[in-house]
Amino acid sequence: MFDNLSYKLDRAFKTLKGTGKITEINVASTVKEIRRALIDADVNYKVAKEVTDTIKQEALGRDVLIAVSPGQLLVKITQEELTKLMGGKKEDINLQGDPAVVLISGLQGSGKTTFSGKLAGQLKKQGRQVLLVACDIYRPAAIDQLKVLGEQIGVEVYAEPENKNALEIASRAIAHAKKTGKKTVIVDTAGRLAVDEQMMQEIEALKKALNPSETLFVVDSMTGQDAVNTAKTFDERLDFDGVVLTKLDGDTRGGAAISIRHVVNKPIKFISTGEKMENIDAFHPDRMAQRILGMGDVISLVERAQQSFDEDEAKRINAKIRKNQFNFDDFLSQLEQIKKMGNLKDLMGMIPGMGKALKGLDIDDDSFKPIEAIIRSMTPAEREHPDILDGSRRKRIAKGSGRSITEVNNLLKQFNDMRKLMKQMNKMGGAQKALGSMV
Ligand code: GDP
Repeated sequence: MFDNLSYKLDRAFKTLKGTGKITEINVASTVKEIRRALIDADVNYKVAKEVTDTIKQEALGRDVLIAVSPGQLLVKITQEELTKLMGGKKEDINLQGDPAVVLISGLQGSGKTTFSGKLAGQLKKQGRQVLLVACDIYRPAAIDQLKVLGEQIGVEVYAEPENKNALEIASRAIAHAKKTGKKTVIVDTAGRLAVDEQMMQEIEALKKALNPSETLFVVDSMTGQDAVNTAKTFDERLDFDGVVLTKLDGDTRGGAAISIRHVVNKPIKFISTGEKMENIDAFHPDRMAQRILGMGDVISLVERAQQSFDEDEAKRINAKIRKNQFNFDDFLSQLEQIKKMGNLKDLMGMIPGMGKALKGLDIDDDSFKPIEAIIRSMTPAEREHPDILDGSRRKRIAKGSGRSITEVNNLLKQFNDMRKLMKQMNKMGGAQKALGSMV
């Protein structure tokens, strides 16, 4: 993502700080800067030019308030334009029908199977009964892959490994869904490495026969301009309802979102940001525009946290903290919760300003491994009563976990500091309660 665009804009406008109007001359260099950033982010040149021309028209003559710098004002106008370009508002998938059928299309490797699993998981969390259908008749591994995902999220997978007729499989799957009371059927289809006539005919036939309430086109956002061309070809044949942008994690540039929407004029409905089942988010044009402009995506971060955190577990831990009983088992459970939210680097990248700071940094779930190894080398009694961890126990734990004594000591120190802080907070809460009862 072009996360330093706002910085560039501010720099371009340094000379203009304070009051004044944005004029033709001083806007020119900034607009050029925006256009370059958009093209760098894989936005098609023609689209980038159209956006920047609009931004220029919008910006010219606007009063620059004392409170905002001209750079900030331009960022705001840019954000508004990008939001509009990506459809303006969030659009949901259509799940009408009994069962509702969701057909997943796209090239091989775009992330169809992974996304099918993620969507099933998300719908299940919302309380829907879901059936996943493996219709990738050419890649036997895809059936196993879907089964593994289904098991992970606790969703049934319908497959007929010997059958090479996708239409037959899907029709029988729908009948099976009706019989077993499943309200949503997600059909994962076969892809090819490139657009090919046979694949198109197959998916067209599936769409015609199944009459899905939603046909989604899955596309790998790392493929840049190719993504746009593939989207166009699929849309001409399939007239799909929505787009899923995958692999928007890591260094992927967000430009495909803008170009695809512009070229096929179909809403982007989901983004996929990693290989884990939780890495799925609804597509919000305004948030995406903010993210593209390096303003972070705090709202999505908060939502992800709300979805992943187990409320009962949070209550249990809270009660233990209040009773000053927080121990290493609770600590491990908290680490698991954090990991469930997805890749750490992606999560932190959603916090404004963090994206740039994290660029060269190598943090992932493995960063927790040393800590987990140390805790897992403790006996249940030690985890519950860390106070008994004397020198010889620490030595044994270091040896067992393959970490150094210093690492064990550091973890214990951090843990003790954390417990002290919890105790203090409890006391303060207690003091407040005491004060409250006096008035
Ligand atoms: P399909 O051939 O279209 O079904 O694609 P798969 O679902 O098998 O995905 C192809 C590869 O991309 C697999 O290795 C997935 O784990 C990976 N993948 C899928 N979605 C994402 C994503 O959002 N981010 C990343 N980093 N990898 C992904």
